Amino acid sequence: LSFDSLPVESKIISILKKFPKPSPIQAASWPFLLAGRDVVGVAETGSGKTFAFSVPVVNHIIQEKKKGVRALVVSPTRELAMQIYDSLVTLTNVTDISAVCVYGGVPKEEQRQGLKKASIVIATPGRLKDLIEEGSADLSKVEYLVLDEADRMLEKGFEEDIKSIVSNTNSDGRQTIMFTATWPPEVRKLASTFMNNAVKVYI
Ligand code: AMP
Repeated sequence: LSFDSLPVESKIISILKKFPKPSPIQAASWPFLLAGRDVVGVAETGSGKTFAFSVPVVNHIIQEKKKGVRALVVSPTRELAMQIYDSLVTLTNVTDISAVCVYGGVPKEEQRQGLKKASIVIATPGRLKDLIEEGSADLSKVEYLVLDEADRMLEKGFEEDIKSIVSNTNSDGRQTIMFTATWPPEVRKLASTFMNNAVKVYI
């Protein structure tokens, strides 16, 4: 797989071309993600997993204008959420898609405003659950759900928050993507709860 053979918009390809070639997790997961499959990627941070899920998500969203939150990325920590946001913004910068990063420890108002216009939300579980409960986050239009570092989210005790968040998305029209560094029984169980006939990609 090369960047040029990828069936995605040329403006996205041009951003990826700062790298010499797709990383192994990208080359392995892009064909399935672009075909609309649910994917579990077993990969560490540093593998290029953020672009592995971001490229198909952004490419799909720009094909058709629609209102509402269309992609949700849930991440275990504020630092990781911010890194994902920065990577996604390099892709959305060449489009007119808006993204918002939602995490705890800061006032909510700016995040509430961002949620009104964002197509893509990157969030930590606790703050997002809060914003859903107060009625500031409508996830009923989510087409892509990404659970990043799922094993770490479970270790941090976010299982109930994740279940509550996922139950606010529409399970029918949703493509679900999970990244995890390890594949213990708890993570398998989470994957089987939320995913449909998922392809597992190891690198
Ligand atoms: P991640 O695993 O998403 O945290 O990515 C780790 C680092 O790899 C980031 O700094 C990316 O900019 C970089 N990266 C992403 N894709 C590639 C690629 N195809 N080749 C080389 N580096 C990449």
